[in-house]
Amino acid sequence: MLDEFFVSRKRKSWFSDFVSCKEGQPMSDIPKCPECDSEFAYPDGTLFVCPDCGHEWSAEDGDGTVASEDDGAIKDAHGNVLETGDTVKLTKDLKVKGTSTTLKIGTKVKNIRLVESSDGHNIDCKVDGIGQMKLKSEFVKKV
Ligand SMILES: [Zn+2]
Repeated sequence: MLDEFFVSRKRKSWFSDFVSCKEGQPMSDIPKCPECDSEFAYPDGTLFVCPDCGHEWSAEDGDGTVASEDDGAIKDAHGNVLETGDTVKLTKDLKVKGTSTTLKIGTKVKNIRLVESSDGHNIDCKVDGIGQMKLKSEFVKKV
C-alpha cells in the first residue's frame, strides 16, 4: 500500500518534470514567409528574413493578405496563378457591396479579368444575375 503510494507520487513528479522540460512556446509573433509560407522566418533589424527562399520583407506590411507584388502574379486561395479568362469558384460567401445579395460559396464565375487594385479587389468579372463586380483573388479558387 505504501509502496503503491510512493510509486504514484514518483510517477507524478516524473510527469511534471517531463512537462516542464518541454520546449518553450514557438515565437508566434513572427509571421510566416509571404512568398513560400515557411515558418522559419526570423527578424533582422526592421526586416524579416526567410531562410528557405531568401525573401525579405518589412514587419509593417505583413498582414498576410498582400498578393505577391514581386512578380505581379495574382493567385487564388490555394496559391494557383490566375489569368484573365479563367473560370473561378468562390471559396466563401461574399456579400455584394451596396446590395442585400450574397454570393454563395461555390458560385462559378466565368471569364474573369485581372485588374490592378490597391484594396485587394483584383478580379473584375460578371456574375450571372448580378452583373459587373469586383472580387478579391484570395476568396476564389481556379476551376
Ligand atoms: Zn520564404
